[in-house]
Amino acid sequence: MTIDLEAWAKERAVKYFMISYTDLFGAQRAKLVPTAAIRAMQEEGAGFAGFATWLDMTPAHPDLFAVPDPSSVIQLPWKKETAWVAADCMMEGQLVAQAPRVTLKRLVSEAAAQGLRVKTGVEAEFFLITPDGLSISDAADTAEKPCYDQQALLRRYDVIAEICDYMLEMGWKPYQNDHEDANGQFEMNWEFDDALATADKHSFFKFMVKSVAEKHGLKATFMPKPFKGLTGNGCHCHISVWNEDGSQNAFADPSAELGLSQQGKCFLGGIMDHATALAAITNPTVNSYKRINAPRTTSGATWSPNTVTWTGNNRTHMVRVPGPGRFELRLPDGAVNPYLLQAVIIAAGLNGLANRSDPGPCSNLDMYAEGHLATHAKRLPLNLLDALRAYDDDAVLKASLGEEFSKAYLKLKNREWYAYASHFTEWERANTLDI
Ligand code: ADP
Ligand code: MG
Ligand code: MG
Ligand code: MG
Ligand code: MG
Repeated sequence: MTIDLEAWAKERAVKYFMISYTDLFGAQRAKLVPTAAIRAMQEEGAGFAGFATWLDMTPAHPDLFAVPDPSSVIQLPWKKETAWVAADCMMEGQLVAQAPRVTLKRLVSEAAAQGLRVKTGVEAEFFLITPDGLSISDAADTAEKPCYDQQALLRRYDVIAEICDYMLEMGWKPYQNDHEDANGQFEMNWEFDDALATADKHSFFKFMVKSVAEKHGLKATFMPKPFKGLTGNGCHCHISVWNEDGSQNAFADPSAELGLSQQGKCFLGGIMDHATALAAITNPTVNSYKRINAPRTTSGATWSPNTVTWTGNNRTHMVRVPGPGRFELRLPDGAVNPYLLQAVIIAAGLNGLANRSDPGPCSNLDMYAEGHLATHAKRLPLNLLDALRAYDDDAVLKASLGEEFSKAYLKLKNREWYAYASHFTEWERANTLDI
C-alpha cells in the first residue's frame, strides 16, 4: 500500500518534507515543502528548472517535476520535524529517462522480469576534515598505519556514534564503525538490501554524514583522493542476486569454487567484460584516477585496483570474493552516484548472464607486489577521458543503461574533462618553462 505522506507526517509531527532527487553528477537537489502542501506534491511532484541542475536540459525545457517515492521516506533523526523523500523526475507526464533514479528503477525491473533480485551493500568511506576543506580535522591523527586506530576513533566518537545511533533508529542494522587506512578517514557499515533501497540509503548516508559533521563544526568529504599520498575514499559494493521473494541466494553454491555459483560467475563475467567502460560511472571524476592506478600511499598500500582481475579473499584486485554467495567490486570511489553505481552493476551483470560470460581465471597474485606477472590483465583506464571513451565504445553497456542516459552523461562528463584539460597547471609550468 502506498504511504499517504500527509497522514504519515501528522502521526509524527513532521512539518516539512525535503523532496529530493539526484542529478547526473550525483548532487542531491531538494525543495522544502510544508506538510500543508504535501498532498498535491505527492501527486504532481515539486517543480524545478531542469537546466539549473546536471540533467542535460536547456533553459527552454518545460518544468521538471520531482515526484516523491513514498516508500523511501525517512524522518530526519537529527531534525525530527523534517523528512527526506527520494523523488523520480518527470516532465510532461513522462519519466525523465536520463535521471539516475529512473535509470536504476528500469534496470531493477529488467532484473525482476527475469525473476532476479539484486541485493547489495556499499562501504562509503569518508574523511572528517576542517571546515575550510584544507586538512584533516584531528591534528593528532598522524600514525603511519592509522587503520583501526583506537585513540583516533574515540576522539571522533561524538560524530561516529551519533550517526550510528541514527542508523540503528532507522532500522538499517549497522554493525561496525572504524578508522580507515588514511589519517582522518572513517567507514561505517550497515546491512545490505535491495539495490534501490541501498541506493536510497547510500544517498541519505552521504547527506546525514555531511549534516552531522557540520553540526560538530567539521566537514565530511567523500572525494576519491582528497590528500596526496594518503589512501583514498573507496565505495566498495558487495553484490548477490536472489530469487523473486528473496529467500534463495542464487550466487551461493557450496560445491562451487569459492562458493560462487555458475550464475554468480556469469554475472561477474559481465562486470569483467565491461569494466573499463563502467569505470566511467564508478569513477566519475578527474580526481577518481588519482585513487586507482595510484602510487603506494604512506600506509603501504592504496587498497584500490589497477587491473581488471578477480580473486578470492585478497584485497589487491578489482573484484574480491570475500566469502560464499557474493562478490565485492572494489573499483567504485566516493564520488560515485549512488543510483548509477547500482544501475551499472545490474546492466553489466545482466549482460553477463545473457551471454553466459566467463570471468576468466581467479588470480591469487598480490597485485601490489606481483602485478607485473598478471600479463593477461587489462589495465583500468588511466584517466577520466580514457574511461569516457571506453564507455562510448561499449555499445552494449550504453544501450543497457539507456541511449538517452548515455548521451546526456557522455556530453556532460566530456565537457567536465575539457574544462579540466584547459585548466593551466603549475606542473606544466615547472616542467615546460625551460624547455
Ligand atoms: P569488507 O571491508 O570486508 O569489504 P564490510 O563489512 O565493510 O566488508 O562490508 C560488507 C558489506 O557487504 C556490508 O554492507 C554487508 O551487509 C554486505 N554484504 C554481506 N553479505 C552480502 C550479500 N550476500 N550480498 C550483498 N551484500 C552483502
Ligand atoms: Mg522560482
Ligand atoms: Mg569495509
Ligand atoms: Mg574500507
Ligand atoms: Mg571492502
